[in-house]
Amino acid sequence: MSLDVVTSITELRARTDAARAERLSVGLVPTMGFLHDGHASLMDRSVAETDLTVLTIFVNPLQFAPTEDLAAYPRDAAGDLARAAAAGAHVVFAPSVEEMYPEPVLTTVSVAEVSAAMEGASRPTHFAGVATVVAKLFSIVGPCRAYFGEKDYQQVAVVRRMVRDLSLPIDVVACPTIREPDGLAKSSRNVYLTDEEREVAPVLHRALQRGADAIRSGERDAGVVRELMRSMIDAAPLGELDYVEVADVDTLERLDRCEPPVRLFGAVRFGRARLIDNVGAEP
Ligand code: AMP
Repeated sequence: MSLDVVTSITELRARTDAARAERLSVGLVPTMGFLHDGHASLMDRSVAETDLTVLTIFVNPLQFAPTEDLAAYPRDAAGDLARAAAAGAHVVFAPSVEEMYPEPVLTTVSVAEVSAAMEGASRPTHFAGVATVVAKLFSIVGPCRAYFGEKDYQQVAVVRRMVRDLSLPIDVVACPTIREPDGLAKSSRNVYLTDEEREVAPVLHRALQRGADAIRSGERDAGVVRELMRSMIDAAPLGELDYVEVADVDTLERLDRCEPPVRLFGAVRFGRARLIDNVGAEP
């Protein structure tokens, strides 16, 4: 099958309906484009597990606050199509903002509690924007397996909860974080880093790993683990810590006592780039 680029909602819906009518399974990989190896890993998994892989590329204005980088968000349509073709995706859905939101959006989806802390606290309108666009993509594409990266662990938790609460006919598949050799999580926003910032940026992942190691070695006081991670990031130049957290793997509730499995999270601003990451501490 060759790669088709679709920009209309009606056409995409017809395509996925036709696939299911032929008893083909559909895989959905939602992205904002500027594709890297992290996105490729989601496409690879979808191509391996489903019959028709739909990659979506849409920089969703609803999930950006007015102060954020919507206009500056990196884009590379030609490079993205090449990557999608190389991964074996079948359809790229790249709608315009007018196609997705022809009139002001009055209906939004918000997921309480799971959305509240961490990214939700730092970016108060972010997850409602994400949940709304993902619900819309699910509605357009219909029953499918949908692939998301653990790099955005809280986002996966929000999407999973939305799917359960609304009984959406979607299997959510979470895929591991793809990293640079020095541990930095691959991200479209890494292009914002200067050479100096790029050199220090892996401290975020190292701090999370140090926290997870402490838990594996028996530390159970989440306050001690948070302080360990915070002091490592504070000691590095150029980075401005937003938060570090130890949270429940499902509810993302902030923990005082860390009995594995738990998840460790952090967000650090390096100049123009706000980087997030997370790691697990299993029993
Ligand atoms: P984005 O284009 O940044 O919105 O990301 C689209 C999807 O790719 C989301 O499900 C992300 O979690 C996932 N993703 C982004 N970076 C990575 C990475 N380094 N490893 C695995 N998945 C990723």
